[in-house]
Order: sequence, then structure tokens, then C-alpha cells
Amino acid sequence: MAKLLNAEAPECFSFTSGATESNNWTFAAVAKAYKTGSVLISAIEHPSVCEPAKELAHLGFNVIEVPVDQHGVVRLDVFRAALGAETVLVSIMAANNETGVLQPLAEIGDIIRELSPAAIFHTDATQAIGKMRVDLQSDWPEVDLASFSAHKFHGPKGTGGIYIRPGIQIYPFLLGGGQEEGRRSGTTNTPSLAGLAIAATEWKHASMEAMANVRDEFEIGLKARFPEVQIHCAGVQRLSNTSCFSLPGVVGEELATALAAQGIIVGVGSACSSGALHPPKTLLAMNVDYTLARAALRVSLSTSTSSEQTAILLNHLADLLEKSPSLTGLH
Ligand code: PLP
Repeated sequence: MAKLLNAEAPECFSFTSGATESNNWTFAAVAKAYKTGSVLISAIEHPSVCEPAKELAHLGFNVIEVPVDQHGVVRLDVFRAALGAETVLVSIMAANNETGVLQPLAEIGDIIRELSPAAIFHTDATQAIGKMRVDLQSDWPEVDLASFSAHKFHGPKGTGGIYIRPGIQIYPFLLGGGQEEGRRSGTTNTPSLAGLAIAATEWKHASMEAMANVRDEFEIGLKARFPEVQIHCAGVQRLSNTSCFSLPGVVGEELATALAAQGIIVGVGSACSSGALHPPKTLLAMNVDYTLARAALRVSLSTSTSSEQTAILLNHLADLLEKSPSLTGLH
């Protein structure tokens, strides 16, 4: 991981059961260390950040949710105004799990150091690490803590970790036998970590560029087949594996179910929430009209997705919309 992300040393990493644990750990450690203060998160964070943030609010912290603009980028003017001497934690995700939009973490870091130099800067980098090149020292020099999950880069599910910048002290979350130098107790999940290490070693930037080409070609095809399609966030920096779009008049969940029956899995609403369907929170935070947000589908490519496969998806979409008028129209 240290090589993949150009971290200062291998000791900067603690391993966890994944980003959910790493995010919860961050908030629990801040609650223990500070007792009071203000905490800034963005309006589009994953539930594994929002829920711990709510816990801090119950404990008396002033939790401020910073809005995003219509492209899904954090409003830096509002962010600036919300920072102060009392800010103890800022947690802004690196890349969004619905749209793939990247947040300007370097700029955000500079603003924090200018206005709240003592605040801890955490990023939920789950969608970024393994899906784009990240250099922790030159790209995100002010980030203190970064959460990640191995399955985002073809590692095993249920494992991940947190990067802790040298000099940053955080209270342990799990207490017990003092493993990982006391930072995270419990017997180490060696097989999963071996898998994570292989996935990190095999990661190739070139594959990301090829994936971006497949995604762009897919979106060109989408516009050609469905001129009314709205592709979300195409005008701002986003992950090369994500395409989030709405076909007006369609109900996203129903179209996704129909595609699944044909062996094609696409996302609706938020990634990484098992079972329950969530309204597409990020699109709503961007002020996308509710009906259009409900129509959204998220196609997540992997490095092994080919243009032939995305062409099959386009054909299935066209067939389904032609043959099943019931897919359109809310009920
Ligand atoms: N944060 C983001 C942005 C995610 O997309 C996810 C889903 O993978 C998580 C956190 C939670 O990760 P995990 O389920 O591996 O704990």
C-alpha cells in the first residue's frame, strides 16, 4: 500500500475490516480526543461517515454539512465560511460513490491549514484508492487520515484499512491484545491482507486509462441511441470507471431489475449499501429533479470491462425500453 500510494512508510497503514470500520474509527477517535468542537462533512458522504457524524452530534459536537454545487463538487465558499478555530475534524470524500465526482482535496487541505490548522483532515477515499493514481505526499499533502477498502481494486471483500500520516495520533477503536502496535487489536486477518497486497501490487495505471476510453465510448453510444439521456457530472473531474445517467421517464430500480434478469448488473442510488434501496442522495444534493434522480442508473466498469460488453448493455437497454413501455412512467 505504501508503494501504491507513495506513503512515507509502511507503518502509516493500519488494517481494518474495510472503509466502514476505518470511517467509524476516525469519528470515535475524535469524539474521545476532543469531547467538543465542530465537525465538517459534505452533503454527499457515504452512510459510514454520516451515521458516525450523527453520533458526534448527539454527543454535543456541532456537525456542519457542507453542500455541493450542481456538478456535485463541494461548495468551497460555504466550506471556508464554516471552518474556524473550533473545527476539530473535516471529513470529505475523495470520490463519490454515485457519480464518481472527485473533490478538490488539495485545495480543501490548503483551506483547512489556513483557517483551522489544528483540525484533523480525513477523507473517505474508498472510491478513489485503486481507481485512480493517488500520491499521498504530492496529491493530498494535507490529508491526515484516508480510509479504503480492498474490494475496490480487486482485493478481497471485508478488508481494507486507514492511512495515518506520520505524527498523527488517533485513539484505537478496538481494544484488546494490542495488535498493530496497539492501534487495532484482534488477530490479524492474514489471508485477506495477503490478497490485498497482491491486488495493490498488480494495480496498473495504464488499465485505468483504457477503462476511461471504454466508459467514454459507452457514453457516446448512449447519447447516439438515446438523445434525451442526461449524463450526470460529465463536465467535471470524475472517476474513469463510473457512468451515472438518467433516461427521462424511466424508473431506475425497475430498469435495473429488468437488466439484472438478463445478467447485467447496474447500480441505482448509492453504491455499497446492501439490500435497501436508497434514493440517489448525491443527485438530490446536486438539486437534480426528483423524477430524473429516480431514473438514474450507475454503470461501474472494471479494468476487465470491454467495449463489446458495454455495447451489449446498450442493446439490452434499447430492447427493454422498446418492448416494455411499463418501464417508463412512475407508479
Ligand atoms: N465509503 C464509500 C465511498 C463507499 O463507496 C463504500 C462502499 O464500498 C464504503 C465507504 C464502505 O466500504 P465497506 O463496505 O468496504 O466497508
